[in-house]
Amino acid sequence: MTTEVIIGIDLGTTNSCAAYVDGYKDGVPNVKLIPYKGGEYTVPSIYAIDDKGNELIGYEAKRQWQLNPKNTIYGAKRLVGRTATSDIVETMRKVVQYGVKPSADNKEVTIEIAKKDLTLQEVSARILNKIRDVASNYLRVPISKAVVTVPAYFSDRQRQSVKDAGKLIGMEVVRIINEPTAASLAYGVSKNLNEKVVIYDLGGGTFDISIIEIRGQVFEVKATGGDIFLGGIDFDNAMIHYVLREFQAKTGIDLSTDPVAMQRIKDLAERTKIDLSSREEAPFNIPFITMTPQGQPLNIEMKFTRKLLESLTTDLVDRTLKIVAKVLVESGLSTKEIDEVMLVGGQTRMPIVQDRLTKFFGKPPSKGVHPDEAVAIGAALYAFSLQDNTNLKVQLLDVIPMAIGLEKADGQMHVVFGRNSPIPNAKQITGTTSVPNQTELIMRIYQGDHEAAKMNEQLGEFTFAGIRPGPAGDVKVEITFDVNIEGILRMDARDPDTGKTLQTTVRVTQS
Ligand code: AMP
Repeated sequence: MTTEVIIGIDLGTTNSCAAYVDGYKDGVPNVKLIPYKGGEYTVPSIYAIDDKGNELIGYEAKRQWQLNPKNTIYGAKRLVGRTATSDIVETMRKVVQYGVKPSADNKEVTIEIAKKDLTLQEVSARILNKIRDVASNYLRVPISKAVVTVPAYFSDRQRQSVKDAGKLIGMEVVRIINEPTAASLAYGVSKNLNEKVVIYDLGGGTFDISIIEIRGQVFEVKATGGDIFLGGIDFDNAMIHYVLREFQAKTGIDLSTDPVAMQRIKDLAERTKIDLSSREEAPFNIPFITMTPQGQPLNIEMKFTRKLLESLTTDLVDRTLKIVAKVLVESGLSTKEIDEVMLVGGQTRMPIVQDRLTKFFGKPPSKGVHPDEAVAIGAALYAFSLQDNTNLKVQLLDVIPMAIGLEKADGQMHVVFGRNSPIPNAKQITGTTSVPNQTELIMRIYQGDHEAAKMNEQLGEFTFAGIRPGPAGDVKVEITFDVNIEGILRMDARDPDTGKTLQTTVRVTQS
């Protein structure tokens, strides 16, 4: 019987990438990226429905984006696992052209394109399915298992949502691992290192930083942090706003309400930003962007210099460095103790990002990993370590990115696991009944670092039912919080006096 291949998938905000291990070569695992049509190793994480009702995924979806922005879903990863009222959903609603509305059960958001409602899990599932199809065509074997990466800063709910997306297409997400942790595997597996590394991951939509100590095959995350609303898209937006301001100052016309013009500006902004990583200046010309009230065509004719781009985005780079400084303090390490700074994510190609990191750490970032491929490679290595035809033993010691706790009677957060607590991890707390013959205990569990529980994200309302009748304060309930290696919380409760397990139900409500 041949061993089933488990692939590694980097399900990115802007691009996704998959890899697998093809046995050993020269004694080390032989990682291969899975190519898409045309030989590209990354595929845009974009899903669209065209005029004829056909589904388009990846490059095909990206190609028609400009013409069909309302029916093209991009950046959906930012919405995964979010409640409809969250600030992030509000912000996204303003910048995307596709419909974003509360889901039928009001728990999260639904996307509406081509008169169809899709859950975020369904969108992720379609992209995962495309990656799986490409992989199984390439490898000529059915694929039913994968290790999928998520930003280190993803909450329990967001992780759960990725697992659910896998289930929708009959693919088992055997393990969720953090993107920076995966990148450190790409760097360190089979090298017998003893180093402390910083993974600075600035992708299309999210920023993550992890400080990881590598000791042989043990990868121990010391601290992690990030901002799931900071990435390449924000650099593009800074340029777009500048272009809109300049154009309005010159012509009095506000292009922000014209979806086709906005798409054209957006597209050129990203291309110009990328160009400016290797050139000092670039033209920014778009012919016939709009018309004057008299029907005269108007063009955008501008020039961007690298300096201008840097000045428009300096606050974004500052924000990343503030988070780096904070996480470094939390790790208990100084900049001098860091052996290597690893760059991951396309936006780290911007020279100023590298310059600022060089100044911060006193040494240039390492070229040890490929910024677009490291995460998928790390996921594949980890997947290989879970297969049964392998001697590769990798031990990951990760942490939770934000505190997990429960809401106290005064609305404050009772922290059960502080941020950066190692996982897997289990803790018990004991509660008592507060009224005579109480049969249920309800707990609202939150994840986040704010002192007021409601300011954090609600993971669920847990009801423990079947409590033994008795006087108030007499009956105890022992509750176990168990965060597994993937950062996913499970809870159960029992009566410590009788040993009886209580029935647990979870309801996710609006926070
Ligand atoms: P990722 O999510 O890692 O694929 O990162 C994609 C982001 O990196 C997008 O916002 C791209 O615009 C950006 N990007 C890719 N290449 C470059 C480059 N050479 N210079 C600046 N940004 C880039």
